[in-house]
Amino acid sequence: MAGPRPVVLSGPSGAGKSTLLKRLLKEFEGVFGFSVSHTTRKPRPGEADGKDYHFVTVQEMQRGIDSGEFIEHAVFSGNMYGTSKAAVHAVQSGNQICILDIDMQGVKSIKKTDLNPIYISIQPPSVEILEKRLRDRKTESEESLQKRLAVAKRDIEISKEPGLFDEAIINDDLEDAYSKLKAVLKEEINKAQSSKDS
Ligand code: ADP
Ligand code: 5GP
Repeated sequence: MAGPRPVVLSGPSGAGKSTLLKRLLKEFEGVFGFSVSHTTRKPRPGEADGKDYHFVTVQEMQRGIDSGEFIEHAVFSGNMYGTSKAAVHAVQSGNQICILDIDMQGVKSIKKTDLNPIYISIQPPSVEILEKRLRDRKTESEESLQKRLAVAKRDIEISKEPGLFDEAIINDDLEDAYSKLKAVLKEEINKAQSSKDS
């Protein structure tokens, strides 16, 4: 589909992807749109169905996968996640830049499609800081936290693979990371804004 290039944000759980993308969506309202994924995990306090995720049962998710509704799907830390064609289409039909927040398996799957996004890796300054952020977020059980850290250690290594990501941003100081993200997306933002004005 023609229109602005989508943006994939990927990186370990707790690296700051949601924090950064929520700022983008707020600052550039109408320019970016979030691809609302489906998941079988339970909502966290403050998360809204249809906004943060479409929260579904395993049966509902499996039915959608079987009927070809997903561009990609993966199991992460014991829960299913997936990007539906409808989620991306909803954003692109409004001529907005579609942002996808997906894990490493999702990145590899999307690479096999014709979506042609800009791939941005969001990384923590260290595994120790990642663990602290995840603990302080207070959203995970000890079991979930340990699973996420184990996957993070593996994915931090995989993400160094040359050519996998177009850009890597280390989210140490939040303002700094956000400025870098905006700089990477400047051209796309300008294009989207000028096409809206015309
Ligand atoms: P992700 O979406 O990648 O799992 P979050 O955006 O939920 O990560 O961030 C994980 C936690 O770290 C949140 O509690 C968030 O407020 C916090 N956080 C994000 N970026 C920073 C930063 N640069 N410095 C300190 N804390 C941060
Ligand atoms: P969380 O449970 O913290 O919201 O997300 C866990 C992981 O799942 C994160 O790495 C996030 O990027 C990833 N994720 C969220 N939605 C999708 C999706 O639709 N597809 C894939 N492959 N991963 C997703």
